[in-house]
Amino acid sequence: MNNYEAYIATFGQEKEALLQEMEQYAKEHYVPIMESDGIATFIGLLALQKPTKILEIGSAIGYSAIRMAQAFPNATITTVERDVERYEKAVEYIERAALTDRIHIIEADALALDGDAHLEESYDALFIDAAKGQYKRFFEKYAPYVVPGGVVYCDNMFMHGAVLLADEEVPRRRRSMIRKLKEFTTWVMAHPDFKPFLLPIGDGLLIAIKKET
Ligand code: SAH
Ligand code: MG
Repeated sequence: MNNYEAYIATFGQEKEALLQEMEQYAKEHYVPIMESDGIATFIGLLALQKPTKILEIGSAIGYSAIRMAQAFPNATITTVERDVERYEKAVEYIERAALTDRIHIIEADALALDGDAHLEESYDALFIDAAKGQYKRFFEKYAPYVVPGGVVYCDNMFMHGAVLLADEEVPRRRRSMIRKLKEFTTWVMAHPDFKPFLLPIGDGLLIAIKKET
């Protein structure tokens, strides 16, 4: 928690024990859950949008899904995770948060999932937060489920600063992923069917509003 977050916290209730436990688990097991300033802004944007159906790609241990469900009691969340260990941890936390009726978690590789068989017909919000080199593929596959006027949110658009480096400065094993993330950024910022905003908050949050046709 930085100083501003500590300051903000003095005006509200303390974060509940389960969320604190999840944050600790994420730290200890190197699970990249959304950073606190990023998620605070993300939740604030969602509050303006008022989505009732949210689709998330990349649940990890269920932290962002639980934060969304707690913030929006009328919303239901469908979330997809391919890592079995994280999926199981997410199931445990969702049960402990008593949110099994509003968070539907699917264990699958989102790129292989039969969306029409497992998803609802449409969603107000799509949150992409899975493999960073595959954002274009996630977007192409799942943005069609977003209603006109709905919003696609993408986390980690800055990859902890790696997008600022010249190609040869990026560690070799991450080079192709960063290249693809930048290609996605170029592509989505010029997408004719969306109005995109790349926000310098958290680790870089993209919001792309689907145009009403
Ligand atoms: N949204 C979470 C963090 C997600 S971390 C939060 O903020 O709390 C990214 C997750 O995406 C990882 O757990 C990873 O296993 C998962 N992931 C990556 N590629 C995926 C894919 N193709 N399908 C499903 N999950 C994927
Ligand atoms: Mg993320």
